[in-house]
Amino acid sequence: MDKKREEIYYRLLEKMTDSMTDPENFAHDQYIGVLSEIADLFRISKIVTEFYKTVSQEKIGDGEIVVDLDKEKDSKVILRKRFVTKTMAVVKATLYAAKDEAPLPEDELASLDILTRAMLSFISRNRLQNAVEQLGFYDESGYPNLRSFKRFLEKANENGGLYGYTAGCFNLKNFTLINQEIGREKADVAMKNYISLISSLAGYDSVVCRMGSDNFVLVFRNERTKKIIDALSGMPVSYDKKKDKRVLLSANAGFFRIPEGYVYKNHNVIMEKIVSTAMMARQNEKTLTLFYEEDFSDITARNVQFLDKMSNAIDKGEFRVFYQPKIDIRTGNIIGAEALCRWFCDGKVIMPEEFIPQLEQSLEICRLDYYMLDMVCRDIRRWLVEGRKAIKISVNLSRKHLVDADLIDHIMEIIDKHEVPHRYIEIEMMEPSTDFGFNNLKKLVASLQEEGVYTAVDDFGKGYSSLNLIREIPWNVLKIDRSFLPLDTDKKNSTRSLIYSNVVAMARDLGIECITVGIETAKQIETLRNCRCYFAQGFVFDEPLPVSKFEKKLENPHYKIP
Ligand code: C2E
Ligand code: MG
Repeated sequence: MDKKREEIYYRLLEKMTDSMTDPENFAHDQYIGVLSEIADLFRISKIVTEFYKTVSQEKIGDGEIVVDLDKEKDSKVILRKRFVTKTMAVVKATLYAAKDEAPLPEDELASLDILTRAMLSFISRNRLQNAVEQLGFYDESGYPNLRSFKRFLEKANENGGLYGYTAGCFNLKNFTLINQEIGREKADVAMKNYISLISSLAGYDSVVCRMGSDNFVLVFRNERTKKIIDALSGMPVSYDKKKDKRVLLSANAGFFRIPEGYVYKNHNVIMEKIVSTAMMARQNEKTLTLFYEEDFSDITARNVQFLDKMSNAIDKGEFRVFYQPKIDIRTGNIIGAEALCRWFCDGKVIMPEEFIPQLEQSLEICRLDYYMLDMVCRDIRRWLVEGRKAIKISVNLSRKHLVDADLIDHIMEIIDKHEVPHRYIEIEMMEPSTDFGFNNLKKLVASLQEEGVYTAVDDFGKGYSSLNLIREIPWNVLKIDRSFLPLDTDKKNSTRSLIYSNVVAMARDLGIECITVGIETAKQIETLRNCRCYFAQGFVFDEPLPVSKFEKKLENPHYKIP
């Protein structure tokens, strides 16, 4: 090596050594600069580096391969180096020269060898640093974690404040069901694709982090809001390589638009706002996304307290069963009753509409439903033991149960524990909102019928009940919601009257028993009779009754038909 080249060589070597002793001040672009100088000095045409976190990953070729320099296609290998770090990571470098290049003399090859070792040390340290960062700021699936969220807010706050940014929290809708529908692995892929789509819509000045399971937080510039809300409202996302299998993902989200002059204390203050707003969005049936308002945090705190109270209420026996009779309008006889829940709390009676939706947010609803079934079976057993008249009682089961693989066993266990003949129990369920739920419901109804337990489809006509529900599932009973009933002012050939009478006729032809709920007037009874729906439940006969009153009624199970 001549004097001038030797000088360059030592300068390069010094730079590489600096990179190891003062890593903070040696950036990746400096490293690339050194590489091209090395290439010039030793007439190298191509440098390929490889990094594997473990030896076994090296074996299967699962690593990071970087072509740092590529001047000429037609190259031959002139040096190969492999190096295993103390943490058992593997770094490799392969150096090439043009095919027609004369071989390097011994001393130059030795010098190049020393430089390559220095280079590999830099790479291993640099990559390991990334790996450490990965450990600290990313979760095990590779999503940025809450530390990344905190770091982003702190940096943005230092660089000119948070005004102009929006922070948000979102929860993927029905992800448990999607997991079951397409399998965990594919659902993970779908989630990854969805989140990277949202990240790209959020732009370069943003962060999207996973809090755990299907909950995420994000920060982005205000001008990106519309795009993000659109993506969260529903996007088809592929989950296979060919990209022809897709699932529709959407999320409930709560946002906090950071106001002018906002004083950042810590990320928890922002977290609290966006989490409480997202919780409100989850409970809101009309919208998927909400923006933070001052009183949301209080409402959420109250909701949490309420849930706590409800959870204890089951243990304290504050939930009671009320029975509402079902009547055959041809005879006036009671043919059964529906068990409806009432909560006796602090001297007041709370109605289901005030607590069922909250319970359905968590799976506490399942505990309540089993409790109700247990109380009903206890009552029926007592009636049988006391020699009273026992009739068929229907119990409501939330759709939330449909994710439970052992649902049928749980139901039968409760009924059989009280030795209640199965024919005395009817299970009422509403139409499920997903295909997965639909398939499970189909299986559940078949299993219940095998056991001799009755099944009823509840609230038919409310919402968008589909005909598949009665075509594919062999229900015993169709419970028609009163919103389906013609109004007293409706003519015989009005759309409402025609639909109602035809649904009743269809059920009759299919051999499904039909009952209309919510009957309040003599005129409505008349309509039922005209349409040949002979079973009814409603205030015109009785409201849901406490057990003592209902037992009295059972002693004379008959109503005068108006
Ligand atoms: P649902 O299963 O459709 O029950 C019928 C509701 O209609 C009951 O309201 C009943 O009191 C009401 N109703 C009956 N006749 C009339 C009438 O003539 N006029 C009017 N305006 N209403 C009438 P309730 O007891 O408030 O229950 C509301 C809903 O709460 C139930 O609707 C059911 O979906 C749910 N629910 C009640 N108890 C339970 C339970 O133990 N588990 C579950 N999962 N849901 C329950
Ligand atoms: Mg019901």
